[in-house]
Amino acid sequence: MPIAKQIGRMVEASAMIKAMFEEGARLKAEHGAQNVFDFSLGNPDVPPPAQFKQVLKDLIDDDEVNHGYTPNPGIAAVRQAVADYLSAEHGVPFLADAIVMTVGAAGALNDIFKTLLNPGEQILVTAPYFVGYNQYAVMAGAVLKSAPSTADFHLDPAAIEAAVTEKTRVMLINSPNNPTGAVYSKSELDELGAVLERASYRFGRRIYLVSDEPYRKIVYEAEVPSVFQSYPHTIVVNSYSKELSLAGERIGYLAVHPDAEDAGLIAGTAGFINSMLCVNAPAMMQRAVARLQGVTVDISIYQRRRDILCRGLADAGYEFTVPLGAFYLFVKSPLADDMAFVNLLKEELILAVPGVGFGAPGYFRLSYAVPDATISGSLEGFKRTRKKV
Ligand code: PLP
Repeated sequence: MPIAKQIGRMVEASAMIKAMFEEGARLKAEHGAQNVFDFSLGNPDVPPPAQFKQVLKDLIDDDEVNHGYTPNPGIAAVRQAVADYLSAEHGVPFLADAIVMTVGAAGALNDIFKTLLNPGEQILVTAPYFVGYNQYAVMAGAVLKSAPSTADFHLDPAAIEAAVTEKTRVMLINSPNNPTGAVYSKSELDELGAVLERASYRFGRRIYLVSDEPYRKIVYEAEVPSVFQSYPHTIVVNSYSKELSLAGERIGYLAVHPDAEDAGLIAGTAGFINSMLCVNAPAMMQRAVARLQGVTVDISIYQRRRDILCRGLADAGYEFTVPLGAFYLFVKSPLADDMAFVNLLKEELILAVPGVGFGAPGYFRLSYAVPDATISGSLEGFKRTRKKV
């Protein structure tokens, strides 16, 4: 076989998702896209804030702006702008050196995993988790291992402590969470910090916390506590894909806590890895986001959609925890076989993702990054499918 064995296995593992998308495309071709209720993608449809267009126009008109390579970890002034914003947001004094501008959160995760993990070492994550993590782990030659979360999808410190081994190098968390919408509280982050401190001592080796936060700004009646305050050996990964609806423009960053063990070495090496993987993050987008620190899309649009969807599904008899952040609803499948239930929904032209893809069989995920009309138009179909089973 011309394909590397491990990559071949990854391609096979993603066959289910590929088949699902192909089936969705077939249904849209057959019935018309407007008649298919597609909740499968986390691709933001809310427009970027008006300031984004203006900033791009300003950059185009600025003769000082060039389109050459940038320094590998990012343009100095851009890293400084991010560092200043994070210092104020988290109450931690970041220097520009602690920041690496990346190709989205995905680029940042690839950089930091490659930086921290030797082949065969483990990344510990709580299930359910974002599907991409398996792929990033493979790209780093690492092993993704999962510990269960609590029944309402929060951190379970005892389960995490039991799952840590001498091979655990990174604990990976994601809050607000994809696929559950859970937002971790300050006290659970503090408890996690204590678990990681104890485990690092027990195994005689620092375990780093990587906090993947692309949905940090998409929260409803909730605050996302600063994870840097709970554990200093933390690297935050973030992106502008969701908070500015720039997913296709591929821009994000990673930030290393200044008090993390070997912080300078880690940030410097992550910048070096960035050069090996992608040379540098897109130059125009670096310059654009530097001028848009603290600006976000209109979050009330997602909140309205969440409320319409939650009300409709609760009326139809579905069970779920109301999400406090991100734009996903993780629903208990009325059939134990979530794949079979997702297929039943398809008969109503509703596309959802089975929980098994997130390491959580018995659930399905709905993305409400879709127009209001998609949500309201689907509710009768959800009701009929619920009655069928
Ligand atoms: N992490 C999580 C939890 C995500 O949901 C996604 C994308 O959906 C990513 C990382 C990758 O985001 P980006 O587009 O910034 O690479």
